[in-house]
Amino acid sequence: MTNNRTAIVTGAGSRRGIGQGIAHALAGQGWNIAVLDLDEASAKDTANAVVEAHGVAAVSAGCDVTDKAAVDAAVSVVESELPEIGALVNNAGITSPVPFLEVSDEEWDRVFEVNVRGSYLMTKRVVGGMAERGFGRVVNLSSVSAERGGGVFGGVAYSAAKAGLLGFSRALARELGPSGVTVNSVAPGLIDTDITAGKLDPERKAAMIADIPTRRAGRVSDVADVVAFLCRPESGYLTGVTYDINGGSHIH
Ligand code: NAD
Repeated sequence: MTNNRTAIVTGAGSRRGIGQGIAHALAGQGWNIAVLDLDEASAKDTANAVVEAHGVAAVSAGCDVTDKAAVDAAVSVVESELPEIGALVNNAGITSPVPFLEVSDEEWDRVFEVNVRGSYLMTKRVVGGMAERGFGRVVNLSSVSAERGGGVFGGVAYSAAKAGLLGFSRALARELGPSGVTVNSVAPGLIDTDITAGKLDPERKAAMIADIPTRRAGRVSDVADVVAFLCRPESGYLTGVTYDINGGSHIH
């Protein structure tokens, strides 16, 4: 059963990625789904899968979240084809493990563009309407890297960009609180996705898991379920918070 609102999930094309898991978890709660991804074909695959699995409505669009005109065009399509936008999940992100002294200015900028500017542009485009309607849920994908200071997948650029998102979320939560729009972050630790499967040496992974109190890597559903919880209408008193989803690998 649909809930007559639409959730936009960016970067939800990736086949085993966190974004597609979030799209499914939200659709399972009745949200109609808009999938925006740099990769148009994979965005379409996720949208089709969501419709098939949950019977909600879904649209997809190829969209580079760092491109203001592309963001505007994609959100306009969502607005014209689906019910009102009630949730935005800024999941599109890229990492950069390059050591600080070796990172190029271009790579530094790109990491900030996708992770921070992309979330800024998407959020700016949709929160005005949410505030006018008196309801909205924004969830930003940060990372344990922001809190621990880098790590396996995140060098300085990634850690700094994901920490920037935390400040963005907190300040925006304060500003939008009176309008009924909540803004929260999730900070996943090691999650099994295509990124981690492809880049991580098995021995290194085993050593990392031995250091995680719950002794396993996270699943996409571990993150998706928290995001879906934060998007519920009943979660309106939760805002400006960062939810650590890391099996206890960073307890503070
Ligand atoms: P992923 O690479 O599997 O998926 C990322 C998706 O974002 C891809 O589909 C890609 O096409 C899309 N994307 C990249 N740049 C884009 C752009 N400019 N515009 C639109 N789409 C773009 O990654 P994932 O592991 O599913 O990670 C999802 C989010 O969670 C990211 O923000 C990542 O930084 C964060 N995260 C992941 C982990 C992990 O262990 N996998 C841990 C902490 C945080």
